[in-house]
Amino acid sequence: MNSSQNAVSQAKSSLNLVLRDRNTFGFDVSAEVAYEITAAEQVPAVIRGVTEKNLPWRVLGGGSNVILPKVLSGATLLMNITSQEIVSSDEKATLIAVGGGVNWHEFVAWTLDNHFPGLENLALIPGTVGAAPIQNIGAYGVEIGEYIDSVEAFDAKSHTFVTLAKDACQFAYRDSYFKQNPHRFIVTKVIFKIPKQWQARIHYADLAKQFTSNLNPSPREIFLAVCKIRTQKLPDPKMIGNAGSFFQNPIVPNEQYKTLLHKYPGLVSYPDALGKRKLAAGWLIDQCGFKGQRMGNVGVYENQALVLVNHGGGTAQDILGLAKCIQDKVKKEFGVSLEIEPNIL
Ligand SMILES: Cc1cc2nc3c(=O)[nH]c(=O)nc-3n(C[C@H](O)[C@H](O)[C@H](O)COP(=O)(O)OP(=O)(O)OC[C@H]3O[C@@H](n4cnc5c(N)ncnc54)[C@H](O)[C@@H]3O)c2cc1C
Repeated sequence: MNSSQNAVSQAKSSLNLVLRDRNTFGFDVSAEVAYEITAAEQVPAVIRGVTEKNLPWRVLGGGSNVILPKVLSGATLLMNITSQEIVSSDEKATLIAVGGGVNWHEFVAWTLDNHFPGLENLALIPGTVGAAPIQNIGAYGVEIGEYIDSVEAFDAKSHTFVTLAKDACQFAYRDSYFKQNPHRFIVTKVIFKIPKQWQARIHYADLAKQFTSNLNPSPREIFLAVCKIRTQKLPDPKMIGNAGSFFQNPIVPNEQYKTLLHKYPGLVSYPDALGKRKLAAGWLIDQCGFKGQRMGNVGVYENQALVLVNHGGGTAQDILGLAKCIQDKVKKEFGVSLEIEPNIL
């Protein structure tokens, strides 16, 4: 191991760093050279160094939405910027600037402890604040893009720090400008805008069920309900390797939806923001008989068909092989293509 930690402006580096704790699939992987980024000022030198040598690079937060190969060649930037400050507050909203390396769930809990409700539906999503805008994380009817004022990032193309206002981030379902431009931005800070006016958002079926006898739940009650549902439904990566939902819910035109509904009356779907129909990918996979199935060291989670798991000793290749089987069968049965949600690095 070769490390240097002389100045704040220089990122600490390590050779052949094992990343088992930085990928929730628990794959046995390592980074050729890993840089621990604790301050935004450390980023330009690291990026300059790797671009001069024409080496590949990527950013890793908590590793909860990635599929990693055995060795990550070139440079891996481990995002560890943990600053957090209230920038301003008026009668309409509070602006909070948060470092890219802050743990997402801890930040959500902090907003509630400090009476800034709004993010409670997004409790217990693993990972970091810096990764939240990348795929516009969402759960129980809320997407984070709604609460973002702007994002500060280092742009590896122009070699400058940039601030992208919310509209420039182009947030959409599990998508953003950052996701559309991979290997370009290193998100160092996210500025959240939390409106002072709060309204409970419990229309999602699973959440609504928790409040049949309490129509006016508090933010704290919603936070606790979300934590309870997630703990019951999703496997804990510490116990069994996974990256949450493995496929995006496919969005289909209304005509296709109606044809499918006619053939499969039990089809589970939700209206999409743009007037199309979002199909429950988990239901499609379940109908094809994959739930609880195992293929070597990997498999489909027994309680939720949308989650692929590593039973131990699995690799990226194993998971992608299983994913291909599922995609092919779903396409054959329903004529619908499933897109992989985690990033294949
Ligand atoms: C059990 C479980 C449940 C989950 N539930 C949900 C859910 O309900 N909703 C949801 O949306 N997601 C969910 N996820 C996926 C995941 O938690 C989120 O996508 C999360 O935002 C990923 O954060 P991370 O720090 O782990 O990112 P990583 O996995 O480390 O990285 C994800 C991607 O973002 C890039 N990236 C990370 N940090 C930065 C940065 N600072 N700058 C630039 N690029 C960066 C990486 O290069 C990679 O491409 C779940 C995952 C698990 C394991």
